[in-house]
Amino acid sequence: MQYDRNNVFARILRGELPCRKVFENEHVLAFHDINPQAPVHVLVIPKGEYVSLDDFTAAAGPAAIAAFFTAVGAVARQLGLAADGYRILANHGANSHQEVPHFHVHIFGGRKLGPMLSPG
Ligand code: AMP
Repeated sequence: MQYDRNNVFARILRGELPCRKVFENEHVLAFHDINPQAPVHVLVIPKGEYVSLDDFTAAAGPAAIAAFFTAVGAVARQLGLAADGYRILANHGANSHQEVPHFHVHIFGGRKLGPMLSPG
């Protein structure tokens, strides 16, 4: 799948759309989800152009992948979620209902999160 430079997260990265930023470094941006599914629902995105986890893990180098997941853990700690626990989730493709075609990891926390998957 070709990367769409007009997807909503690309526009946030370019500053064309606002976000409620919680963390940023040279590799990633993290911000609150606009439609939170838990008391804490934050998205972490790489600054590079990757459509999904599949694209990211196939095309990004090990340094970029390490930097990304290091940041995910740091964001969760910064949000105060490490002690009580949290869940991360990354959707790829049609079966997962991925909506935004720029790779992102969701961080959910702030309550007991229930079963891992809905019945479908
Ligand atoms: P996914 O289904 O994994 O692609 O999730 C996309 C997520 O992006 C959803 O949880 C949306 O609520 C969220 N989202 C869409 N537009 C925005 C936006 N402008 N700012 C923050 N989150 C957004």
